[in-house]
Amino acid sequence: MLPAETYEVEFFETEAIAPPRLPARVAPLPDEVLASWLLRFAEPFAVPPEHLLLGDGERDLATHCEWWRKPDPLLIAALARGTGQSTDTVRALTFADWPDDGRDDALPERFSRQRFTVEQPSRQTRRIGVCPECFSEDETSYIRRTWTLSWLAACPMHRVPFVRTCPECGAKLRLPALSSRDHFAPDRCPRCAFRLARAPSRLAPEPVLRLQQRVLEGRPAGIIDLPEVGTLSWPVAVALFDVLLGTVWIDTKPAARDQLFARIARDLNTEPLGEVADAYRGLAILAWMFEAWPMRAQAALAILRAARPRRQLRRWPNLDAAIRGPVEQLLFAAWPDESHPPERAWWRAWIDTLPETGEDLRAQAARERLPHRRVRLLAIADVRDGLPVEVADVIPRTLYRWIRRGAKGGLDAALERPRWHQLSEPQVMELAEWIATASPDGPRWRANRVQNEARRRFGVEISLHIAGRFLRKYGPWRRRKVLAKRRLTLAPVYV
Ligand SMILES: [Zn+2]
Ligand SMILES: [Zn+2]
Repeated sequence: MLPAETYEVEFFETEAIAPPRLPARVAPLPDEVLASWLLRFAEPFAVPPEHLLLGDGERDLATHCEWWRKPDPLLIAALARGTGQSTDTVRALTFADWPDDGRDDALPERFSRQRFTVEQPSRQTRRIGVCPECFSEDETSYIRRTWTLSWLAACPMHRVPFVRTCPECGAKLRLPALSSRDHFAPDRCPRCAFRLARAPSRLAPEPVLRLQQRVLEGRPAGIIDLPEVGTLSWPVAVALFDVLLGTVWIDTKPAARDQLFARIARDLNTEPLGEVADAYRGLAILAWMFEAWPMRAQAALAILRAARPRRQLRRWPNLDAAIRGPVEQLLFAAWPDESHPPERAWWRAWIDTLPETGEDLRAQAARERLPHRRVRLLAIADVRDGLPVEVADVIPRTLYRWIRRGAKGGLDAALERPRWHQLSEPQVMELAEWIATASPDGPRWRANRVQNEARRRFGVEISLHIAGRFLRKYGPWRRRKVLAKRRLTLAPVYV
């Protein structure tokens, strides 16, 4: 047959004989993805949706097994015709309007560990994550468009991390193929029929949901707005996410990673990030980094003892120049100083040889009853873990001062406040307790009484000025009111 004749025959078939217009009994549900709707639509006919709705010519346009993500306009028109829906309705079930090829939306578990550590990461198609809470509310179970986005971590509505693997048998959840004749039951595990609505769920932390929402809102237009970092195009954002997650997974030691994940879980105030929710963990790491950019990313590199950004970027030789530029700029701005100050060694040596680990110091901080010692212990614990001084929660100059004292006089010297008197902290506490026993209604004590007591108890001489300060600070008497000078209102000047 000549090509022209083929065309005529097909034209004749679609227009005059087949396919018959089907009753629009199955309307698309909110945020339903095209594949889910087609599977539901074809269900009562016991015919695969591809056979029911696509003619031979159209099937040629649907060769890729995920054609339903970005179908050809001719396919959309054919499906609209076959189902009695408008082309706009059909189009809304797809990602046809999203810029670029959508490969990053479809690759299984786009930001999970295996993308960075496995030579040939999985290319298995049609992988999905499902929300157990959505299923338990569904009258008719169906697959949402958002569930097919491989980088999404949690249900935007119920805020629970997606279930991507059957909790009962470990099968990876997938959308059935459109050539499938099987009964469509998305709420059940395809292997063991476990009811996915019963999968255990927990809440994802707020920062993770916030980052996800920003990406989700920006993705259709291809502009991702990350307030702490900047406004990025989708490909640049993906590349930045890749490089940052690469620093976590590539060439790092498991113990260092565990330390980082413990820190992230602590900062996000959440349970440990488990292996199970792998894609979720990727977004959680990013959310944690972006929450305090660039300090957290710097902290991650330090904890992981990872290579510097310049070297990290060399791991991605295939990045397009237009994408590499902005990513490079962001990373080099975050790590402006590639060299260490020359006097770095003197305190590093002390910190690194401390008998207490970061964990020990943190435990000591939890037991500590004096707040200023607690703060010092936590900051020193971070530096002990390898964090640069600039990354701690304290002003670097202050932290350097504490460490300098520690290097000279030992850990306890680093924890003590410099004193303007000769009393130790426990002695001050003792004196404070003694002052607090005074009756609030009795006459105010005189400073020399405190001065004498300090001499009697500890044999230490303090000045009257300091004794007076102790009285003001720890005494039960009401503070003397100092009357504020009232401002003098000037009379208007008449001329
Ligand atoms: Zn949900
Ligand atoms: Zn199962």
